[in-house]
Amino acid sequence: MKKIETIKMTREQEMAFKKKTAGRTGKYFWTALVFCACFQIYNICYTLQYTDFLLHTRPSRVYMCLYAALLSACLLMGILAAVWTFGKKGYEHRLLNLYMIFGCALVFWSVCLSIYDHRVSDNISIFVTSVVYVAGLLYMSPKISIPLYVISEIVLVTGIAMIEKNKAGDDYGSYVNSIALVIIAIFLSVYRWQQTRQEFLTNLLLEEKNREIMEQTEKLNFIAHHDTLTGIWNRNYLEQWKEKYFLSPAKERAVAVFMADIDHFKHYNDRFGHVLGDECLKRVAQTLKETGKEKGFLFRFGGEEFLYVLEGPQKDESRRLAEQMCTAVVEEKISSGMEEEGKEYVTVSIGYTEGVMRTDEEFRSLLRKADQALYYVKNSGRNRAAAYEELPEK
Ligand code: GH3
Ligand code: MG
Ligand code: MG
Repeated sequence: MKKIETIKMTREQEMAFKKKTAGRTGKYFWTALVFCACFQIYNICYTLQYTDFLLHTRPSRVYMCLYAALLSACLLMGILAAVWTFGKKGYEHRLLNLYMIFGCALVFWSVCLSIYDHRVSDNISIFVTSVVYVAGLLYMSPKISIPLYVISEIVLVTGIAMIEKNKAGDDYGSYVNSIALVIIAIFLSVYRWQQTRQEFLTNLLLEEKNREIMEQTEKLNFIAHHDTLTGIWNRNYLEQWKEKYFLSPAKERAVAVFMADIDHFKHYNDRFGHVLGDECLKRVAQTLKETGKEKGFLFRFGGEEFLYVLEGPQKDESRRLAEQMCTAVVEEKISSGMEEEGKEYVTVSIGYTEGVMRTDEEFRSLLRKADQALYYVKNSGRNRAAAYEELPEK
C-alpha cells in the first residue's frame, strides 16, 4: 500500500492520465455494454418464450426483473456516456466515473443472480465472469475496488447461506471459490491500478526526456551550423550544405557564387579596436543577408569574407545583386576611419561567377573563379563588384 501512495500526479498529469485511461477503457466499456445488453435481450426473450409469455412462475418473474434491470442499466449507461460526457469539459473524469458505476452495478447484479441461482445449482460463473471483467479491464481506484469486492463477497456468502439455510454445508465450495476469486480480483485490480499509473508516469518522463534531447540537439545543431558572431551560416555548415545540394534534384541548375570581402578591415580594427570591428562585421553580414533576401545562401567563409550562393540566377541578376550588395553596405554608413584617404564609409568588394554546381570539383572551380574576380576588384580600386567572366585577363 505504501508504494501505491507514492504514485502521485500533479493536477495536469492527473487530467492527462484520465483522458488516456478513459479512451483506453472506453473500448472495453462499449464492448461489454453492447454484449451485456444483447445477452439480456436474449435472456428476456428466452424467459418469455419459455413461459409462453405468461411469466406464471415466481422464478421466471424474478429472472425477468434481473435481466430487465441489467438491460436498463446498460441502456442508461450508454445514454449517459453519450449525452452526459459528449463534448463536455472534463468529460474524462465523468467517463471514468461511469465505467466505475457500471462495474459496481455489474458485480452487484451478478451477486444477486448467483444468490438466486443457488436455489437450483452451485453455479457462480456469472459472478466470476463479472468480477474478472471488472478487475481485469476497468480502471478502478483501490478505494472503490477493495470495498466493492469485499462487500459483494459478504453479500454473496450471506445471501447463499440465507437462501439455503437448511443445507449451508453444501455450499462450502462456493464460499471457498468466491473468496479465492475475490482475493485474486483485489490483487489484480490494485496491480492494474498501480501499473496503469506507473506506466503513464514513466511514459510521461520518457516523453519529457525525449523533448529535452530534441531541444538540445536543435540547439547544438544551430550552434554547429551558425557563426556565433554574425548569426549567419558558418563554414562547417557550408560543407554539409553543398553535399546536400549535390544530391538535390536542383543540382542541374546553374548557380552564381559570390565572394565578398570587407575593404581595409585590418585598418578598421587598428583604428577602432576589435570590439567595434566585431560590430562592423555583424552589420555588414546582416546587410548582405537582407540584400540577398531568401533567394540565396549566405555563409561566413573566413574572417571578414562572405560566400553567397544564388540558385538559378536570371539574366543580369548576379550583376544587379552584387552591385546592390556593395551599395547597401555603403548605405549602412559605417564610418571607415579613413576620411583622410577620401574613404568615408566601410565598403565591400565582390567577385562573382556563374556556372553549374554538381560536384565538389565544380564547386571549388566556381570558388576559385569568384576569388580571382575578388582579387581583381581589390587590385583595381575596391568597393565594387566584378564577374570572373568579364575579367580582362584570367
Ligand atoms: P582588403 O581590403 O585587402 O581586404 O584589406 P583588409 O585589411 O581587409 O585585409 P584582410 O582581408 O587580409 O584583413 C582581414 C582582417 O580581418 C584581419 C583581421 O584582423 C580581421 N578579422 C578577421 N576576423 C575578424 C573578427 O572576427 N573580428 C574582427 N574584429 N576582426 C576580424
Ligand atoms: Mg578585407
Ligand atoms: Mg580578407
